[in-house]
Amino acid sequence: MKLHILRCGYIRVARDVPYGSRSGVSAAARQMLAADRDRVILPVCAYLVEHPKGLLLVDTGWCRDLSPAGVYDAKAVSRLLPPHLAAFYRPWLPEGMAVHEQLERRGIRPADLEAVLLTHLDPDHVAGLRHVAGAKHIILPEDEYFWSCRTVYKTRQPVSLWQDQPIERRFYRGSPLGPNRWAIDLFGDETVQMVNVPGHTDGQAAILLRSGSGKFILLAADAAFSPRNWRELVPPGFGFGREWQRKSLQWIAGLAEDPTCAAVLCSHDPGFEPQTMEF
Ligand SMILES: [Zn+2]
Repeated sequence: MKLHILRCGYIRVARDVPYGSRSGVSAAARQMLAADRDRVILPVCAYLVEHPKGLLLVDTGWCRDLSPAGVYDAKAVSRLLPPHLAAFYRPWLPEGMAVHEQLERRGIRPADLEAVLLTHLDPDHVAGLRHVAGAKHIILPEDEYFWSCRTVYKTRQPVSLWQDQPIERRFYRGSPLGPNRWAIDLFGDETVQMVNVPGHTDGQAAILLRSGSGKFILLAADAAFSPRNWRELVPPGFGFGREWQRKSLQWIAGLAEDPTCAAVLCSHDPGFEPQTMEF
C-alpha cells in the first residue's frame, strides 16, 4: 500500500492547543482571543491511499473559497466560518494546496476516488469536501453525524460545510480495536478500518491501514496532535471528553510500540513533512 501525506492548508492557533491546553469554555474563549505572538502555525493534513481496491482519500483539509488568493483573508474566512471558529483557527490555504488541486497534479479526478473517509466533522477536515464531492463514496461514522446534529458540536462543526454532500453514514460495530472497541471494517478484510477514538469528538475515527506486508499505519486524526501527546498522555485542546481523550491516547501509545507499526500520523503535526510512504 502507498500513502501520500498531503498538506491542505494551515491554522494559526493558540500555543496551548496542541499540547497542555485546559478544557472548558474559558480556555476556549482565551484561545479565540490569543494574540499572534501567542499562536503557533500548524499544518492541516489529508491523506491519499493507493489501496488494491482503489484510491482512498482521508479527510479533505480547507477549501479554496476560504483563501481565494492563497493567503489569510479574514473576509473570505468569515463567509465560511462563524466568528468564534474564524478566531480560533485563523486558517489559510496556499495556492496549489487545495485537495483537488493536489489530486489534479497527480492526474486524479474526484470520480477516480473509490471513497473519501471523514475522520470527523470539524471544519479543517471537511471544508474541502466540496472539491471532491464526485467521489464514488463519502463515508462518515454514524456516531459522528449523530452528535454533530446535536448539543455543543453544532457550535464547532458548521453544517453548511457538509450537509449538502452525499455522505454515507456507516455504523461502528463491535471490534477488538480502539479504546471503545468499535470499528468500521471498510472492505471486510481488515485492510482499512475506521476505529472510534472518542474524546476530541464522540464519533471521531482513526484510520488503521494494514498492508499485505503485515505492517500497519495509523492515521490518528485529532486524537493526538503530535507524538508528545501519547508519549506523555497529555491530550490536545479543543476536546470535549478529557477522560476519553486519555483512553484514546493510551490505545495509540500501545499501537505505536507494536513492532509491526510503520507509523502513527497526526493531522496537525508540524514535525512531519508531506511525503509518500510505502508499507
Ligand atoms: Zn483538526
